[in-house]
Amino acid sequence: MGGAALDVTRLSAGYGPVRALREVTLDVPQGSVVAVLGGNGAGKSTLLRAISRTLPYYGGASKGGSVRFGGAPLHTLTADRVVAAGVSQVPEGRQVFARMTVQDNLRAGALGSTGGRAARAAALRRVHGLFPVLAQRAHQRAGLLSGGEQQQLAVARALMAGPRLLLLDEPSLGLAPMMAARIADTIRQINAEGTSVLLVEQNAALALRLASRAYVLEVGEVTLSGPADELAASDEVRRRYLGVV
Ligand code: ATP
Repeated sequence: MGGAALDVTRLSAGYGPVRALREVTLDVPQGSVVAVLGGNGAGKSTLLRAISRTLPYYGGASKGGSVRFGGAPLHTLTADRVVAAGVSQVPEGRQVFARMTVQDNLRAGALGSTGGRAARAAALRRVHGLFPVLAQRAHQRAGLLSGGEQQQLAVARALMAGPRLLLLDEPSLGLAPMMAARIADTIRQINAEGTSVLLVEQNAALALRLASRAYVLEVGEVTLSGPADELAASDEVRRRYLGVV
């Protein structure tokens, strides 16, 4: 394989006068899991939303730099075209459609797919295999699922578009440790099946276990990067993000 699936070069973004992201450069090699660590307000969500072109219409905007996927520019596309290009995002806080059934949430995820009926059926089989509970609860309203089940649904919904790269915003947020570990196992499995992953997490320990490479974001800038095992061993990361004194 080799080669970078995603190339982010000097990407800046902000909200009105607020500069949330300053010339961030990173890449996600094809087939890999890459993590972005950082505290509250570091710019992690802004980074993912600038890549997926889902910054809020009012006030949020990319302000320079480029994003390429398989060499083709994403930074000139609309959000639906980014999905069609093979990049799907799981937003922070899951944001499932609470009043819709589980099945209809999954159907909504498939709207961005460029594949036909057979591709959608295969995607549904895949997500039911990964998350059997979603098959059992197909006709239940999504809002009635537990937090962990809603996170599974959010990941499954993104997978329905058949992405080659998954952007994951804080998948472990608010979950009990056991459920967070299950989500981590699933991310590993999704990656093993060939989907690259860019993972944003405040839970640095979990992210560094999953990723081969990681970046640390502070006040919108990359301050550290390297192989995940090297970052996990660095004093600064241990002190600031792994709670080791
Ligand atoms: P968290 O984990 O708390 O979501 P984060 O690392 O994802 O943090 P961002 O949400 O990207 O950080 O926020 C980066 C900066 O942009 C912060 O200063 C935040 O206050 C600001 N910001 C984020 N969203 C908006 C918005 N819609 N309007 C104005 N400022 C915003």
